[in-house]
Amino acid sequence: MAHYGLIEAGGTKFVLGIADETRNIAARHQVPTTTPQETLPACIDWFRQQGLSNPAAMGIASFGPLDLDRASPSWGHITRTPKPHWAGTDLVTPFAEAFGCPVAIDTDVNGAALSEHRWGAGVGFSSLLYLTIGTGIGGGFVGADGRLLRGLSHPEMGHIRVPRHAQDHNYAGFCPFHGDCLEGLTAGPAVKGRWGASLSDLPADHPAPGIIAWYLGQAICTFQAIMEPARIVLGGGVMHAPGILDKIRKAASEAGAGYFVGNPQDLVVPPALGDNAGLLGALALAMDEADG
Ligand code: ZN
Repeated sequence: MAHYGLIEAGGTKFVLGIADETRNIAARHQVPTTTPQETLPACIDWFRQQGLSNPAAMGIASFGPLDLDRASPSWGHITRTPKPHWAGTDLVTPFAEAFGCPVAIDTDVNGAALSEHRWGAGVGFSSLLYLTIGTGIGGGFVGADGRLLRGLSHPEMGHIRVPRHAQDHNYAGFCPFHGDCLEGLTAGPAVKGRWGASLSDLPADHPAPGIIAWYLGQAICTFQAIMEPARIVLGGGVMHAPGILDKIRKAASEAGAGYFVGNPQDLVVPPALGDNAGLLGALALAMDEADG
């Protein structure tokens, strides 16, 4: 049976796994994200210790931004990240040289979109939008053709503009590029920047969850207008706040005013793959790479 080396590359840790095409993850491990010179060889060492040889492919689902243009000399490199040491890092070549196999790479959120579409909340649905709302906001869309949406690079859905909530005109937003884009107003640091605590830690009657849900409702309305997803999966730490999902569904329904085919009350759902979503995203990428 074919097997695959899997890498979920995050800002604080690299999660590693070895799996076969039945999605059985036989071994897993974590390596701290320090510098590329330390982290990448430590990952290769672990795969070798596990006896990984002749994998059908390796899959990398990574934090970004990434260069995903196959014609570019820096394909598979991390590009303009503010994370120290990692800008310009080639994530692909060390693994391709170590294991002599094809290596697939995409963003972590695109990987999660693929795995949720194929094996999770999107099973039985033609298209799926995956949004993660955590320390940042990212989105990946799998269309009715089963392929990820891509232009010059992967989408940067967290950086769309949104209208201002009527009770939220003083906070400037934390995005270093745009200030008050969606991420700048809605991700975890924006919640703590305004109210000094995460949504889950604020009193039950606090207006913050309603304001954050309203922004996410505007964003969903925008994404419905562009893509009409059959499923919208919302993940990430901000979604752990009690009741936030229902507030977002309601806000999105009001913003859309019944115009779109999909009804947010039905199509906005939590992830189904839980803690495995990252590695399964890497597996989906690797399996597609091996299939050509
Ligand atoms: Zn921005």
